[in-house]
Amino acid sequence: MTTSRAQALRIAAQAADTSRRFGVDFVPVSSEARSFAAETSSSGVTEDNRRVIETKPEPAINVVVRTDGHSTEHLTTDMPRTSKKTKQAQLDDILARYIKDEPHKGFNTNFKNIVFGEGNPDADLMFVGEAPGADEDEQGRPFVGRSGQLLDKMIAAMGLSRSDVYIANVLKTRPINNATPTLDQAEKCSPYLFDQIRVINPGAIVTLGKPAAHLLLKSGLAMGQLRGRWWTFRDDRLGLDPVEYQVMPTFHPAYVLRNHTPETRGKVWSDLQQVMKKIGLPA
Ligand code: URA
Repeated sequence: MTTSRAQALRIAAQAADTSRRFGVDFVPVSSEARSFAAETSSSGVTEDNRRVIETKPEPAINVVVRTDGHSTEHLTTDMPRTSKKTKQAQLDDILARYIKDEPHKGFNTNFKNIVFGEGNPDADLMFVGEAPGADEDEQGRPFVGRSGQLLDKMIAAMGLSRSDVYIANVLKTRPINNATPTLDQAEKCSPYLFDQIRVINPGAIVTLGKPAAHLLLKSGLAMGQLRGRWWTFRDDRLGLDPVEYQVMPTFHPAYVLRNHTPETRGKVWSDLQQVMKKIGLPA
């Protein structure tokens, strides 16, 4: 099989698979690939994707902090004794600092659980959302409600699973009435998020919605101008070595659920495809 035919088959297979899993009924595919679409397998998961899934380390880190009156409980899954332990220990330290500092003090929040973040400390891909909602507050885990279900589909469409990526939010406590974080709130919580990013050290960050993009990119642009292209997040806080990360802003899953059109989903999928290319996944 020629390379172009093989590529076309792969693209068509991915398009079919994506349509099924992510619910995207508009995926830009070349006309050549379209003509091969009928030949694709029913699973649609490409060999390359499968290899990625199989070679990624399994354990997801699940950090839950329960705050009920005076007692605080911190649960993590067991981690193998590898270099990841070191990263996990660093993440634990950031969480401990967050609990001590209470940067959310004074926020309009009556949270039950701190939602610190979870995922693979060695992830090459990190998602940053806005703030926990009711389901996340209940469980102490990010993106477990309706938005989270869509995020799971987006991750699956990329050929990954939650245990391959790391997921965090700008705010770690649920704002009353799910209010959008103010810039002041985002900035007060930013050192903990920025430290999380330094530890994970991802090859790409996907910001979900405006607050995360605005915080990382120091920009107030509308999503329409932000999404779909690469930006640089530069963490040059005083006293630290400056570091830079590549950021792809895209729509928040909650926005996609409210605007569930082929156009919106197609835009998100095209953003994710750019991310896949950046981190070496077949897109
Ligand atoms: N929305 C977010 O931005 N973060 C979550 O964790 C859940 C919903």
